[in-house]
Amino acid sequence: MATRSKDTLLTTSAPFDGLAMNRRQVLGTAFAGLAASALPGGIGAALAAAGDRKVDVLLIGGGIMSATLGVWLNELEPDWKIAMIERLDGVALESSNGWNNAGTGHSALAELNYTPEDDKGQVHIEKAVEINEAFQVTRQFLAHQVGRGVLRNPRSFINSTPHMSFVWGEENIEFLEKRHQALKASPLFAGMEFSTDSAKIAEWVPLMMEGRDASQTIAATWSPLGTDVDWGEITRQYVGYLRSQPNFDLELSSEVADITRNADGSWRVTYGYTGTGEQRTVDANFVFIGGGGGALHLLQKSGIPEGEDYAGFPVGGSFLVNDNPDVALRHLAKAYGKASVGAPPMSVPHLDTRYLDGKQVVLFGPFATFSTKFLKDGSYFDLFGSVTLQNLWPMLDVGAEQFDLVKYLAGQLMLSDAERVAALRDYYPQAKGEEWRLWQAGQRVQIIKRDKEGGGTLKLGTEIVSARDGSIAALLGASPGASTAAPIMLGVLEKVFKDKVATPEWQARIHQIVPSYGVKLNERPEMVQQVWTATGATLQLANAAPVLDVSAYGGVTAPAGGVVKPVPDMAP
Ligand SMILES: Cc1cc2nc3c(=O)[nH]c(=O)nc-3n(C[C@H](O)[C@H](O)[C@H](O)COP(=O)(O)OP(=O)(O)OC[C@H]3O[C@@H](n4cnc5c(N)ncnc54)[C@H](O)[C@@H]3O)c2cc1C
Repeated sequence: MATRSKDTLLTTSAPFDGLAMNRRQVLGTAFAGLAASALPGGIGAALAAAGDRKVDVLLIGGGIMSATLGVWLNELEPDWKIAMIERLDGVALESSNGWNNAGTGHSALAELNYTPEDDKGQVHIEKAVEINEAFQVTRQFLAHQVGRGVLRNPRSFINSTPHMSFVWGEENIEFLEKRHQALKASPLFAGMEFSTDSAKIAEWVPLMMEGRDASQTIAATWSPLGTDVDWGEITRQYVGYLRSQPNFDLELSSEVADITRNADGSWRVTYGYTGTGEQRTVDANFVFIGGGGGALHLLQKSGIPEGEDYAGFPVGGSFLVNDNPDVALRHLAKAYGKASVGAPPMSVPHLDTRYLDGKQVVLFGPFATFSTKFLKDGSYFDLFGSVTLQNLWPMLDVGAEQFDLVKYLAGQLMLSDAERVAALRDYYPQAKGEEWRLWQAGQRVQIIKRDKEGGGTLKLGTEIVSARDGSIAALLGASPGASTAAPIMLGVLEKVFKDKVATPEWQARIHQIVPSYGVKLNERPEMVQQVWTATGATLQLANAAPVLDVSAYGGVTAPAGGVVKPVPDMAP
């Protein structure tokens, strides 16, 4: 996108690369029509009036992604008019809600899928370094917002919670030890301990060891740097702050029904109030589609050709929850296991300390769930309504290729309560089934992307899809998720406001917000130490960061010669 000051942003004429009519609908139209007619007030059917108002930036959806982008932009360009439109009657009610995700501050400290082993038995840590570096950006962004008063009371949204990997069986133990050794090359993983000693592991996680078969061989790693994060609370505080600003406006219970291109290159977004059916329009020079699971449909409505390559496949998650303080207060860790064969990494079981609604609870899961809804509060037509002539074949192709995943999902759906508790007892042998309730968390819509041959690839990460002129961008996928909202939204800025990002004013502000901006932290141990110390203090993290011997690190190089089997890039 060309450089836009407040004034020019409202008047810039972007090249028209949208289509008068979307090329999406064939199969989708029939289903989408059905779905739209089911909307309250017949929103989908009504015609747009002339643009009711104009803003610089429109954020669709009130989750962590839109809220984070709003906070970035409000700080970088306080004069820009920003509006947020959310279909539910509050923000952070979908995936970003604390109860709808696992609340892990993903830093690759515990998630084994980020450190794959190649065919020569060498462990690769490059992906883990990348994920960890992204979380250091998040820590700096959060700390900066505390400093500015945008966020209050860090204990309400982030808490030190050691991250652990926990495995059993000789092969897994050998892998975990090699992983621990490999991670020592990076300062970002300093302070991590490895043990096969039951007594030591019992100090870290007593509940996981009590009643365990003494003959079982086990191993664990433990890192004090882990965190539990309530992304919903952060979203609410961000939006609360934005609402106190003169140029921000939030409309709740407002569902976006259509996105069309104006002749001047701006976008007209039509939305309806879910209670009354009353319909309004807003013109925006930049639209961010932060609709979570709803983003694919909205991207398709925009008709930009870049959106045609995508389809979505929803996978939900449920957790067992225990809020008995006698149990909850005795477990202080996020203990991640190893995925079973065919399981997507997001289904790796973990026994987690959570801080939710001011209480400490324990969650175990996730168990994969399936529904054709793209949002927890969505429509059963969502999946069918997203099918187009362009994405039908890639979807079928992925369906045929991912047989293990389909088999795994089917197995998960058939689990009985007793089988879920049996899975829990692998981690917490003396768990009492009657103390645990099953909770349905959020939906994640996995990306299926059309490949060059016209087939499809299942992409388990996150993608920013934007129009060539940068006037509209959507976030698809959900992993590593909320943990990377700050760096991903910085990526959106770099992509769509490229010229602005290059200006000395924005550069100076971005460096104020994220002091390590542009630095590969892994190569700068002294800066890692500074970031940990400063953000740990501001975020009031109880666990002190390890003290680094900065001379001990010489960089990370990928082990040579081995072939890594493609690993889904999704976080558990
Ligand atoms: C089971 C599970 C576990 C997870 N665990 C973790 C974890 O441990 N750590 C982590 O970092 N991430 C985790 N994630 C991922 C994380 O929750 C998501 O990446 C993140 O919350 C997505 O934020 P979002 O703002 O894009 O979407 P959401 O929070 O879903 O917000 C999208 C908003 O858009 C609104 N919307 C949709 N369509 C429209 C429309 N047409 N008009 C108006 N509004 C609309 C929705 O109502 C919703 O409020 C997990 C997700 C799941 C499902």
